[in-house]
Amino acid sequence: EATAVFTNLPLLDFSLDNERSAFQSALTEVRATLPRRYALAQPVGCNSARNPAHPDDVLGTVDLAGPEHASVAVAAANAAFPSWRDTPVAKRVRLLRHAAELMVAERRALAALEVLEAAKPWREADADVAEAVDFLRYYATQMEQLSGWHETVRFPGEDNRIVYVPRGVAVVIAPWNFPLAILAGMTAAALVAGNCVVMKPALPGLLIAHAFLDLLHRAGLPADVCRLLPGDEAVGAALVADARVHVIAFTGSRRVGLQILQSAHTPAPGQRHVKQVVCEMGGKNAIVVDEDADLDDAVTGILESAFGYSGQKCSACSRLITVGQVHDRLLARLVEAAATLPWGPPEQAEFTHGPLINEAAQKKALDYIEIGKDEGRLVWQGTVPVQGWYAPPTIFAGIRPQHRLACEEIFGPLLAVMRAPDFETAITMAMDSDYALTGGVYSRLPAHLQMAQESFHVGNLYLNRKITGARVGVHPFGGIKLSGTGVQAGGADYLKQFLWSRSMSRNT
Ligand code: GLU
Repeated sequence: EATAVFTNLPLLDFSLDNERSAFQSALTEVRATLPRRYALAQPVGCNSARNPAHPDDVLGTVDLAGPEHASVAVAAANAAFPSWRDTPVAKRVRLLRHAAELMVAERRALAALEVLEAAKPWREADADVAEAVDFLRYYATQMEQLSGWHETVRFPGEDNRIVYVPRGVAVVIAPWNFPLAILAGMTAAALVAGNCVVMKPALPGLLIAHAFLDLLHRAGLPADVCRLLPGDEAVGAALVADARVHVIAFTGSRRVGLQILQSAHTPAPGQRHVKQVVCEMGGKNAIVVDEDADLDDAVTGILESAFGYSGQKCSACSRLITVGQVHDRLLARLVEAAATLPWGPPEQAEFTHGPLINEAAQKKALDYIEIGKDEGRLVWQGTVPVQGWYAPPTIFAGIRPQHRLACEEIFGPLLAVMRAPDFETAITMAMDSDYALTGGVYSRLPAHLQMAQESFHVGNLYLNRKITGARVGVHPFGGIKLSGTGVQAGGADYLKQFLWSRSMSRNT
C-alpha cells in the first residue's frame, strides 16, 4: 500500500453565488437543530451556549462535569488503552481518514455552527473546519510514516531498530478561538498515535466540541477511546494532576499553561512515569514595516492580522512597528482602509468582522482601550453594533515598549503603533517581549528581509504577508520563549510528542 501524500483542503469560494446560497441554507438547517441539549449524570452545573452577536439567543445547554467526573473519564480511557494501543496503525489511520471524510461532507453545517456559537465570519469558520480536516489527514499520514521498526545507524554484527509506541491516556485542553481545528488537531495527533483521549474544551464552543465527538464516534471510534468532559478550570486541573495521565496537550493562556507545566511535572502518589506536556500559550506579535515597504500589501496584511476574527487569534498582530519616516504615510492609509471593514452579526455574509466571544472578553478589550488612551494617542476607532459583545476596532499611536499595550496579550481588535528610528532597532523592539509566537516584516530590501530571517526569532516569521492563517503542513505553527513548549503543530515533529520511542539491538 502506497503512503498517502498530504494536501490541504481547498477553502470554499464565497464569491460564487451558489456557494453563498449553499452556506445560507446550511445556516438555516443548523438553526433548525437548535437549541441543543447535552445532559450528564450528576452534573455540577450547566453552560448555556449563546450567540455572541445576540446574547439572548441561546443555542444550547451543556451540563458541566466536576473533578469526580474527571477521575471516572480517566479510568475509562485507561481501561480502553490496551486494546486501542494494540489496534494496528493502519486501522487507526483509516478511522481518522474516515472522520476527515465525514467532516468534509458536513463542512458547511460545522462551519455554520461556528458562525453562530463562536461568532466566526463565514470565511474564518470555513477555514477552521478545513484546518481540522487537514490536521486529521496530516497526522494520519505522519503516523503511517512513523509506524513500524526503523533501522538506525548501521553497526557491524547487530540489527538495530527503533519503534514508536503510544504513551497512554492523553488529556486535551483546547481553546474556543479555533473551536474545531485546535481541538481536532491535538486530539487527532493523540488518537492516531494510539493514545486514549479525554477532551476538555473551553466553555464557549461546547456545541462544536460535541459535534466533533459525535463525528468521531460515527467514524467508528470506540466510545471510551475518546471522551468529552465539559467543565471549568478545576476539571482541567484534576485531569492534569491525575496519576494515570501520560500526555497533556494544551492550547490557551500563558497563566494556565504555566500552571499545567508545574502540576504535570510534580509526580502524583503512585505515578510511575513522567508526563509529557505540549503547550501553546499565546503571543504579543509584531509586524515591522520598513521605510520602503509596499504599503498596499502592508495595509491589507496588517488589517487582516490585527482585526481578523476581531483579534482573537494567538497569532494576531497587536503591535505595529514603523521604521523611520513611513509612520505618517502608513497610518493615513491604514485608517482609510480600516474604515471600510464592516462589523456586524457574522450570520450575515456581508459582515466580515464580528463581536468578541463573551462579555468578559468584551470588558477586557474595552478596559484596554481606556488604558491605551492614557498610554498613547487614539488615532482611529471604528463603529460596531450596540447589541452583542462587540469592542470597536481601535488603533493607538505613540505606544512605547514599556506600555501595557505593548506587553500584554489583549485578544481583541486593538492595534498599538510604535516607532523605530531604523530597521535594526525595529527588529530589536519586535523581539522585546516574553512571547515569541508570530512576527512579520514588510520590506522591499533583500538585505533587510535576510536580516529578519536570521535574527527575528519567533516561532512563525512571515515576510511580506499576513501573520495569521498558518496552514497545516505548510506553516508548522507554534512559538518559543513563553509562547509555548516549542514543537510546532502541523509540523513533522509534532506527533512524536505523543509517542515513546523504544530501540532494540539484536546480536546477529
Ligand atoms: N494557527 C492560527 C493562525 O495561524 C492561530 C492559532 C491560535 O490562535 O491558537 O492564525
